[in-house]
Amino acid sequence: MFIVFIGPPGVGKGTQANMLAEKYPMFKISTGDLLREAIREKTTLGERAKSFMERGELVPDALVIELVNEKVSTTSKDINSFIFDGFPRTIEQAKQLDGLLLSKKSSISVAVNFAMDEEERVTRLSGRRMCPKCQRTYHIKFAKPKIDNLCDYCNVDLIQRSDDDEAVIRQRSSVYWEQTRPLLDFYDQRNLLQTIDASRNIDLVFKDLDNFVANLKK
Ligand code: AMP
Repeated sequence: MFIVFIGPPGVGKGTQANMLAEKYPMFKISTGDLLREAIREKTTLGERAKSFMERGELVPDALVIELVNEKVSTTSKDINSFIFDGFPRTIEQAKQLDGLLLSKKSSISVAVNFAMDEEERVTRLSGRRMCPKCQRTYHIKFAKPKIDNLCDYCNVDLIQRSDDDEAVIRQRSSVYWEQTRPLLDFYDQRNLLQTIDASRNIDLVFKDLDNFVANLKK
């Protein structure tokens, strides 16, 4: 099973992907997390991706596809269900992903569109916090850690992502509308698109997602 999560920054894709991967034997691939990891480890790819991310632009397709290819091919053969969080983000990436899955005699099972009102989304982003160690995301109001500002799992101080700065958020949003949103038509034309109202609370959003997955498993 291959699930694709699509949505502008701040709609809770990462949180929902983690919840799904905790409940089912599914492997989460978040290209944002992989890129941040590459930057921390100062790999050549990370060095090349860094300035695009700092500006809130998309990292070139070839680099992202290289990362995803590597991750899928090095994942244990026992795992055959994946959640792609924040990938694909362009039509070119979607086509390349189709090619990769075809080579595995597989295809996308569902593309989930996380829909949310613009103003609510920006408010949410400004309250987002991240664990610098495990990359889990929290929110100061909607997804609080058990102890204030500490990761529930790693016990380290949470941080605010540098690209959650307001100017960069605005840039990332316009990139979404121009380059990523066309993917909704791409998947809708193939009857693969499901839209979720992501402005509701985390558990209600997860209930919908869980239903999609349960139906796919039937
Ligand atoms: P995210 O954590 O998904 O919000 O991604 C953070 C940043 O990483 C984005 O603003 C892009 O610069 C970059 N990025 C993540 N995924 C992709 C992708 N699929 N294609 C291009 N750039 C990406």
